[in-house]
Amino acid sequence: MKGEAPACVCMEIDTDELLASLTPRGENPAIKTYQNTVSVACPACEKPFDDLVVCKQNPTSLNLSKQLDLCVGVEDGQAFIFTHKAD
Ligand SMILES: [Zn+2]
Repeated sequence: MKGEAPACVCMEIDTDELLASLTPRGENPAIKTYQNTVSVACPACEKPFDDLVVCKQNPTSLNLSKQLDLCVGVEDGQAFIFTHKAD
């Protein structure tokens, strides 16, 4: 923290605690994915999410193959995308 004003209004999330609860599922140069095997609540909507995708680079195409509900947070310039399976 250097006292800078955030550049966007995205929520801030405590990712260290969050990631410690999740199961890493895969990684490539652009993204890292985690599965929420313990039903951690999404920091945005407070419902358990299915997977977390961490973007390690600037916005990238995610190739999402199915229709998903997403919540997005940001920390240290990285986007955190929480996916919720559509019912
Ligand atoms: Zn959510």
